[in-house]
Amino acid sequence: MTDKSKLNCSFCGVEQSAETPLISGNDGYICSACVELAHQVVNSWGQSAKRAELAETLRVPKEIKAHLDEYVIGQDGAKEILAVAVYNHYQRLINMGQSGSLHDADQAVELEKSNVLMAGPSGTGKTLLVKSLARVIGVPFVVADATTLTQAGYVGDDVDTILRRLVDAADGDVQRAQWGIVYIDEVDKLASKGMGATNTRDVSGEGVQQALLKMVEGNEVKLPKSGRRHEGGDEIIDTTNILFIVGGAFPGLEDLVRKRLRPQKGGIGFQAAFVEDPQHTHDQLLAALQPDDLQGFGLIPEFIGRFPVITFLHELDADALIRVLTEPKNSLVRQYSQLFAYQGVELSFTEEALQRIAQLACDRGTGARGLRSIMESVLRRTMYEMPSNPQLKKAVVDREQVDDASELIVREILGESEESVVEEQAEAGVKSRAQ
Ligand code: ADP
Repeated sequence: MTDKSKLNCSFCGVEQSAETPLISGNDGYICSACVELAHQVVNSWGQSAKRAELAETLRVPKEIKAHLDEYVIGQDGAKEILAVAVYNHYQRLINMGQSGSLHDADQAVELEKSNVLMAGPSGTGKTLLVKSLARVIGVPFVVADATTLTQAGYVGDDVDTILRRLVDAADGDVQRAQWGIVYIDEVDKLASKGMGATNTRDVSGEGVQQALLKMVEGNEVKLPKSGRRHEGGDEIIDTTNILFIVGGAFPGLEDLVRKRLRPQKGGIGFQAAFVEDPQHTHDQLLAALQPDDLQGFGLIPEFIGRFPVITFLHELDADALIRVLTEPKNSLVRQYSQLFAYQGVELSFTEEALQRIAQLACDRGTGARGLRSIMESVLRRTMYEMPSNPQLKKAVVDREQVDDASELIVREILGESEESVVEEQAEAGVKSRAQ
């Protein structure tokens, strides 16, 4: 029997006291413990709904790769590996809730996360791949640069700020962020001070690795405050189910593997048999890569061990760069054509011009990254004049022999009578030089 003069929680029956205050409703009361329990229950409804939603939208690896093909040229090996890693990761998440609580499911068969490490020169599409992946899966995604991270307490970005940004990318929904993807670029620059003979270690870099390690392993992290207003106390994010992908150029990686693969000399001195170095192709060398090789870059073994899936991206040659210019859904040629079309001008490129642009980018050695600045410098003059010239109807980017050099030029075609104007403009020397 409850004492009628005393108030009780309508859910658990606990009596009101100085330690157990009750919140009153229209017809009843609730204690703080029941409020918290109710919050957890409601959260778990949200989780199951999200799981169902993800299960519905998750595509099989072949479809994921087909989607990546729309945006990223080449890099088939990396695409397949990423598609499988991401598919498995989200399968694991979707199925974790089936047998009740997350923990029960985990105890049945512990499925570990397969974080991915991508090695490949700059401008080969590492960031683009991960960005396109996050888009196809429909999860929040954030890119961070390892070189801007510092140990907690130092000037610079703290590792935890990555998670804050992930939550912001999920529109403040911490639960959605917990299933997101974090891409950390330039990890090869974290600790090693180059591949020189002096193996000087950047101590704070190692501190960052330790901090990253904790986050990658799965940890509850108190989020730093953001500009976004939120009610209640501190927000906590659990990183256990966040998929981490790290990337880096790892320059000289092939040489490291080549050195390891070199046959051991049988003896020393004049009697020693001469053993010739076998010739390995670029792909063979990368395929023979072992996680230990990455230690040469100053990555600590525990950190490397957290990235069981390793994949590579190849340097893009001139042919691949032409494809990058024209084929992807949002290729540069399409982007600029769209921009010109807004102003009623039809933009086109001749085959020779595309080849020249690709070659210039190749010479710069920055992969596809260099393409945009070349395009900008070719089209700058036209883009400057176009808005004040309503007569301009077409612009054709072409390649022309000027003196000894081959230059990119823009032929501007005014009004209706194309032919005559083309010549006129060509004679007038409407050129833009791409340095
Ligand atoms: P990375 O991260 O490898 O340094 P990014 O992914 O940031 O390179 O690439 C820079 C830009 O170059 C991208 O925005 C994209 O437009 C283009 N790009 C690079 N590689 C490719 C590729 N394989 N296919 C299509 N576009 C590419």
